[in-house]
Amino acid sequence: MPVVRCTRCQTPYPQNETPYLCPKCGGVFDFDTPPVFDSQRVDRCCTGLWRYRSAFSLPANAPIISLGEGDTPLIPWMDKGDPVWLKLESLNPTGSYKDRGSAVLLSHLAARGVEEAVEDSSGNAGASFAAYAARAGVKARVFVPEAASGPKRGQIEAYGATLVRVPGPRSAAAAAVLQEVQHGAVYGSHAYLPFGLEGIATLAYELFEQLGQAPGTVIAPVGHGGLLVGVMRGFQALMNAHVIDHLPFFVGVQARACAPAWFASQHGIEAMDQVQEGSTIAEGVRVQHPVRAAAILDLFDRQSGKMVAIDEADIMPAYQELARGGVHVEPTSALVWAAYRQLREQMVNSGMIPGPIVLILSGAGLKYQSQIS
Ligand SMILES: [Zn+2]
Repeated sequence: MPVVRCTRCQTPYPQNETPYLCPKCGGVFDFDTPPVFDSQRVDRCCTGLWRYRSAFSLPANAPIISLGEGDTPLIPWMDKGDPVWLKLESLNPTGSYKDRGSAVLLSHLAARGVEEAVEDSSGNAGASFAAYAARAGVKARVFVPEAASGPKRGQIEAYGATLVRVPGPRSAAAAAVLQEVQHGAVYGSHAYLPFGLEGIATLAYELFEQLGQAPGTVIAPVGHGGLLVGVMRGFQALMNAHVIDHLPFFVGVQARACAPAWFASQHGIEAMDQVQEGSTIAEGVRVQHPVRAAAILDLFDRQSGKMVAIDEADIMPAYQELARGGVHVEPTSALVWAAYRQLREQMVNSGMIPGPIVLILSGAGLKYQSQIS
């Protein structure tokens, strides 16, 4: 079974406490191997994410915390005669893929007896955390940037969480929550705590079941990087179990206005600190210090993949194009459509982007306060 360890000093995650960083060296915790997938142990009686419980490294006493996440539709979208597959993660219970991580994370926290936790988010993770905390009976306080969209803020409060609006950029909300943590609050961070990554890996298992094969290419937005890391590990788990015989080509997408992981892929992980947090309509990926950027680059070294940055001017046209085809997602999700457009030109020229191509549409458009009406 995978073990959670400090990525710097290899110390295993403590049995009783819930630190968000390694108490010994300040390193980030992560699983030391991909999940262990066994198709014989998939619970066919169960629907959604929890049918893969055997692939989660949860203690035996961990409760199932579920709101019906997973089993999202995969629909074909014809583009100049070629099908592109859209994975509608926007149709998860709180409207984003984050629910896959939250279900497993809250199960983990509940198993440790956590009764109250703080979280910070640009919106989607906060809403998801609030909902699953409510389901798990955990009292939640969620810190968001003051500029986070109104529907996301309202959603967090509707689930009964205490909403704390922090003036300034996304990083200011992160700094504010850390002050609470220094005063003893449990940080139920979707970004730092790795437990939810095994929930996100179920995207890979589902995609295999829906397509009947591994995709040729998977394109996903990158904020902290948990979505892409989770999916890449999920496919690695399928490879390790000999369920598939090749890995997809992975594409991570950021908004150029705030693209630290893209910059690091070009100039090395040490260069990431040079990147500024510019303003972007793709608020879900406005993350100046992605916790999983190093993991993404490490996976790119061992699997095949690349980062792409999208100009701000290309985001709204992608949003509108999807919406006018009946698929209303938030601008952050439209990044992947813009990236597909960019890559398709390269594909025509070089044939380097193999099919079937899957775009992961991470969040619902109803969360977005439309500026085009
Ligand atoms: Zn350490």
